[in-house]
Amino acid sequence: MIQVKDKMFEIAITSDVLQEKIDAISKVINKDYEGKSPILISILNGSFMFTADLVRRLTFPHEIQFVKVSSYDGMNTTGKVKELIGLTADITGRDVIIVEDIVDTGITMANLVPQIKAKGARSVEICTLLMKPEKLQVPLEVKYCAIEIENLFVLGYGLDYDGLGRNYKDLYVVQP
Ligand code: IMP
Repeated sequence: MIQVKDKMFEIAITSDVLQEKIDAISKVINKDYEGKSPILISILNGSFMFTADLVRRLTFPHEIQFVKVSSYDGMNTTGKVKELIGLTADITGRDVIIVEDIVDTGITMANLVPQIKAKGARSVEICTLLMKPEKLQVPLEVKYCAIEIENLFVLGYGLDYDGLGRNYKDLYVVQP
């Protein structure tokens, strides 16, 4: 059990299991992208650890671009507009894999995929470490998901609670 700020967390998924799941998903991605040379767009901050472990297993040539997502109230159907910051690479005609830590409501990814397609990408797929299927609020095609989890707040392995806890090698779940 660990304490982060006002909350207690318990290990939900050990580092060994995380690595096994990343192994499994990389094998699928390696098969799908054989002979291709995609660009990976990694969403900071949460996905830095997952990205590092994922790319070390990839066997095809690829570029990695780290970006951030801004969030502000807007007028689209979800009520929130998310904008990509820091995408400097020309992705015209490129195969793109978005690398995300967790798909929760799906709103972030549902916003980003059309933006990336609009920049001329040939294909755009989502690769997420975690997903909370029960919480999904928008239709979203997630081609690569390493682990599906319950609808509970998690921390560690890149994911934070109020800025803290990203450093843990295991994934923790909040305690009631
Ligand atoms: P979405 O737009 O609701 O899918 O939100 C995705 C983002 O919310 C992720 O990239 C995370 O930064 C954050 N997030 C969602 N659930 C959790 C969680 O359980 N722990 C930590 N961050 C989370």
